[in-house]
Amino acid sequence: MPVIDVSDVDFGPTVKPLDNGDLRITANAHLEELRLDPVIVARLPALSELLALVGASGIRNLATIGGNLAWGLGDTEILLVALGAQALFAGGTRIAIGNSLPTDVLMTAIEVPPALSANVFVEKVGHRASFSPAKVVVSGCQLPDGGWLIADRLGPTRPVITILSGESVDIEAFSCSDPHLARIATNLIRRHIRLRRESVAWACKSPKNSPDVFAI
Ligand SMILES: Cc1cc2nc3c(=O)[nH]c(=O)nc-3n(C[C@H](O)[C@H](O)[C@H](O)COP(=O)(O)OP(=O)(O)OC[C@H]3O[C@@H](n4cnc5c(N)ncnc54)[C@H](O)[C@@H]3O)c2cc1C
Repeated sequence: MPVIDVSDVDFGPTVKPLDNGDLRITANAHLEELRLDPVIVARLPALSELLALVGASGIRNLATIGGNLAWGLGDTEILLVALGAQALFAGGTRIAIGNSLPTDVLMTAIEVPPALSANVFVEKVGHRASFSPAKVVVSGCQLPDGGWLIADRLGPTRPVITILSGESVDIEAFSCSDPHLARIATNLIRRHIRLRRESVAWACKSPKNSPDVFAI
């Protein structure tokens, strides 16, 4: 199979805010470049924070976001699923991240809808000693009705999406073949949702806090 180096192909600016509020990220953007990008830090801090946990800087300077997504077990996929992002391919095809991506078509960009940073969380659990895919990656994005869209990957599997209508997190929702991983995921999600609830309660009691950060 021929190998094509796309790292120097010009797909446009690394990160570009679009008129509809989405962020467009070029598929061949290096992970470290994205982690430090001022627009990502300001508008999508969860991605910047997650990328700090993806390999070491030497890996992040070589790996691209398109490669991380096409690999099939990259951590960025879970956050981008929770955010409702789409991958764009040469020829104009768009595929929601979380679906199987074609391996024979060039991915050119990822478009990420806007989300209030206080309404988004992502966390991973894995080994640090040597490279292996993360054991647990969970991400959530709060929906306008107060519920949560949760994306998770427990073990080397495809992402799973769960909609929580309220704030109660039932372990059954995250059950997988390894109950230990399901329990870890449930506890992480519960903790993030509780933190979010406490932040909102705290903001409501302190009128001088920025309404932008905590508005639902
Ligand atoms: C030591 C080490 C530690 C790592 N730690 C982590 C970690 O903690 N978390 C994590 O998420 N990842 C981790 N990774 C994976 C790494 O971040 C990369 O995502 C992965 O190695 C893919 O590398 P790449 O981006 O260079 O893509 P490549 O290896 O070039 O490509 C991977 C696949 O994607 C396809 N592809 C690449 N670009 C495109 C495109 N534009 N369009 C269509 N298909 C494309 C290729 O054809 C190939 O099939 C680690 C890797 C190493 C080696």
